[in-house]
Amino acid sequence: MTASIAEILEPRLAPLDLHHRLLLAREFIPGRIVFTTSFGIEDQFITHSIFTQGLDIDVVTIDTGRLFPETYELWEQTEARYARRIRAVYPKAEPLEALIEEQGINGFYKSVEARKACCHVRKVEPLSRLLAGVSAWVTGLRADQSDARADAPLVAFDAGHKVLKINPLADYRREDVVAAVEEFSVPINELHARGFLSIGCAPCTRPVQPGESERAGRWWWEADDKKECGLHVGEDGVLRRGPAPQKAEETF
Ligand code: SF4
Repeated sequence: MTASIAEILEPRLAPLDLHHRLLLAREFIPGRIVFTTSFGIEDQFITHSIFTQGLDIDVVTIDTGRLFPETYELWEQTEARYARRIRAVYPKAEPLEALIEEQGINGFYKSVEARKACCHVRKVEPLSRLLAGVSAWVTGLRADQSDARADAPLVAFDAGHKVLKINPLADYRREDVVAAVEEFSVPINELHARGFLSIGCAPCTRPVQPGESERAGRWWWEADDKKECGLHVGEDGVLRRGPAPQKAEETF
């Protein structure tokens, strides 16, 4: 998959709704397509669309080992609802043991570097393994989730992971997604009703206060411009779009 395919695909997807975007992407792109879910409301909408349309797209989660109990419950509930398995990838045991040895069980609070080291072992490295050899990667990114995601395109070539990245909800507003999951009775994380708009690892997520951005509850002790886990940004902290700088390539 190359950057030129993204340029061909984006205008074809733009006028469509989520279901037809996924359908067209599956028809257009040969090879394996993976959707990574963290069981947030956007991801649940995409999972619903993939499973109910019977699309040949793998639904996979990265189990960091630090997720909320409510997230594990939703995982089980979602499998039961659609009678489909959601595969998981896990951090490698040895780097994880070395990380805990070095920084302690909650060492990620100590500094941005310590937090990024934890995110790298628990999320970024497993994702890189998951995406090896994959043609396209589907995510639940929306442009209005935060300033860092404001330029999220529908389709782009992610040079860091060397994969076509599809964000089929990039131009959806949160209220559109909420309306859709209500319409289709899609199961969602009960934490959303308690003010958790964006849900990640339990020790690194808190409810959002009125007026805050949707991702303000993630790594709330850090400055806004540092708040991505590394799944969607290069080493420079910028959302990947188009050819990545050499530095980002070397990260993986
Ligand atoms: S979100 Fe927190 S617990 Fe999860 S991988 Fe990142 S630093 Fe570690």
